Amino acid sequence: MNGENGENGKLMGNPNGKKVLVTGGAGFLGSHLCDRLLKEGASVVCLDNFMTGQEANIAHLKDNPAFSAVRHDVADGVDGVAAYISRTPHKPYTIEEIYNLACPASPVHYQKDPVRTLKTSVWGALNMLELARRAGAKVLQASTSEVYGDAILSPQPESYHGNVNPIGIRACYDEGKRAAETLFFDYRRMYGTRIKVVRIFNTYGPRMHPADGRVVSNFIMQALRGEDITIYGDGRQTRSFCYVDDLIEAICRMMQSREDLAGPVNIGNPGEFTIRELAEKVLSLTGSRSKLAFQPLPQDDPQQRKPDIGLAKAELGWEPRVPLDEGLKMTIAWFKEVL
Ligand code: NAD
Ligand code: UDP
Repeated sequence: MNGENGENGKLMGNPNGKKVLVTGGAGFLGSHLCDRLLKEGASVVCLDNFMTGQEANIAHLKDNPAFSAVRHDVADGVDGVAAYISRTPHKPYTIEEIYNLACPASPVHYQKDPVRTLKTSVWGALNMLELARRAGAKVLQASTSEVYGDAILSPQPESYHGNVNPIGIRACYDEGKRAAETLFFDYRRMYGTRIKVVRIFNTYGPRMHPADGRVVSNFIMQALRGEDITIYGDGRQTRSFCYVDDLIEAICRMMQSREDLAGPVNIGNPGEFTIRELAEKVLSLTGSRSKLAFQPLPQDDPQQRKPDIGLAKAELGWEPRVPLDEGLKMTIAWFKEVL
């Protein structure tokens, strides 16, 4: 098998390695996940429509024989997805693990075309579940703290059913991810599909798109350019920020967790900060003289968010290691290079 040519002429790397599909693999989290899986000896297919992902995130993997990338939409039918995987050295039904990350994650991007966001979440999940069912693969869903909406309860445990406005501007994402979770658990109940669901809380780090629109990348870019720091609302709303390396460690542990652990499992850093505190940290770590500029708070913007990570600690033996200041320093250094 070693050295066998794939359909795209690429040598098939690590033929004995696990065959893994990462949807959204050219995005911020997906590209870090591809790196990690390749380091572990897996053979990785990245499927991405490059809506918010970037070629640059995976450019360093181009010549890696164990890596293939296909440009495709995860919502475009399971047969379509399978056909595209066939363009790589892989056969779709030999895939052993699927990480389903394909979906714009920044409010700015997921609100641009909300109907498409909903399709990506729901049809994408359905297609990946169907692929997993046919292939007998394990499938992990990148769900989100947004399933808790504007949480009344804090910190949020997995048992909390949340407070989502089903007709608001965030609903395309929140309800899409909630429906995707429903599909995952129904596939498990109906077909015994091996599923894993993680609810990811705000994660940041190198490779966030400079125009991503989320708070960490916005504040760092604004500080480095000497522009006003745009605080929405009074800045007293909170978020809990997890560094990307910690997040990737957790989702890899989740995929390898005991067979009957389907989740959902919260993954995030319980350190809770107001958005104003974040702005002040970024100003001090960049040495920027940017001013704070207060702008209207978007509709349904959650007031507090902090994960209860008791389950992740107990089941995965995981907790985050990188404190916010340290993670911000590494992220700022990366953005400086990009600029
Ligand atoms: P990102 O926008 O950088 O990455 C998403 C990737 O999915 C991009 O490469 C994009 O091009 C691709 N994509 C979008 N729609 C697609 C489609 N229809 N078909 C194929 N590819 C598609 O965002 P991210 O921060 O890396 O998020 C990755 C996943 O993690 C998302 O599912 C997101 O909902 C989830 N998540 C992320 C966070 C976070 O803080 N980063 C928090 C909660 C959940
Ligand atoms: N936010 C902000 N300024 C920005 C971008 C975001 O004050 O330039 C706020 C936003 O209103 C929210 C928080 O920062 O309260 C986190 O926003 P983000 O878009 O990063 O993610 P969310 O957790 O809201 O999905």
